[in-house]
Amino acid sequence: MGKCPHFEKCPFFNNKMSGMPVIAKQLQDKYCNEEYVKCARFMINKMFIEGYAPKDEQSASEFEKEFDKLFPNNIDKAEKIIVQLVK
Ligand code: SF4
Repeated sequence: MGKCPHFEKCPFFNNKMSGMPVIAKQLQDKYCNEEYVKCARFMINKMFIEGYAPKDEQSASEFEKEFDKLFPNNIDKAEKIIVQLVK
């Protein structure tokens, strides 16, 4: 599939997130360099590109906290965020 189109600005790919997991390199190889469509962060970015956004300030603040901690393999968390975005 190839490299994720968000890699240049992505804090996970650029090792800028706090608490980077010890398996970060493996996750970057698996998701960022290959199967980016399966990445939790990519899924959320896609929702934004499609026009979905938190409904109010409180939701936006909660969303930001969750997204800041989201790693590519956190699919369950991404699905919960997506449910909130499409409500
Ligand atoms: S973490 Fe996800 S969104 Fe970021 S570069 Fe990797 S695949 Fe893309």
